[in-house]
Amino acid sequence: MSDIKNVCVYCGSSSRVDQVYKDAAVSLGHSIAKANWGVVYGGGRVGLMGLVADSALEKGAKVIGIIPEHIQEREVEHNDLTELHVVDSMHTRKQMMVDRSQAFVILPGGLGTLDEFFELITWKQLGLHDKPIVVVNLGGYWTKLLECIDNIASVGFMRQEDKDLFVVVDGEDDVIDALRNAPNEKFDPSTKWI
Ligand code: AMP
Repeated sequence: MSDIKNVCVYCGSSSRVDQVYKDAAVSLGHSIAKANWGVVYGGGRVGLMGLVADSALEKGAKVIGIIPEHIQEREVEHNDLTELHVVDSMHTRKQMMVDRSQAFVILPGGLGTLDEFFELITWKQLGLHDKPIVVVNLGGYWTKLLECIDNIASVGFMRQEDKDLFVVVDGEDDVIDALRNAPNEKFDPSTKWI
């Protein structure tokens, strides 16, 4: 996958987390900038989201933020971005984040990050996009979720091969290579249950 221009990063908006998560956010922002890619993200200054944006900007990357007007205050919109789009709803935000990006990274986060991750993989399962998705399982943060997805496939509520909808890496240092090497494979929704 060589035609990446912007990488969308989904991650937590909380700052009340261990330093290890914050360091990973900063390091990822630096790596994306070094790869000469831009960042697309939720547009706030808070939590890991703000750290990814600041660290990417610091190293000269373009950073595009997309924030709904009703959470502008809570997530404190970032006014030093290359582009800040204030949109009317969560739905518009999510659609625009997907449209403006050619690849996705999931760092540790909370319920919002989970929602975004599941929307991304279900849209890919339905054939609505075929862009690479990398999950950063930092310190095993997502292991229980990944086990839950394994179980869903074992029981038969999803196909075993749909576990390939995303790639898992152990740390932020592996993200750039994982994105560069991600298979450019289109999921065929017509074969979903056949
Ligand atoms: P969190 O992982 O809960 O800290 O949230 C990370 C980001 O996801 C924040 O920018 C939230 O505004 C956003 N978010 C929260 N809930 C949703 C949702 N239902 N759909 C889309 N984004 C959400």
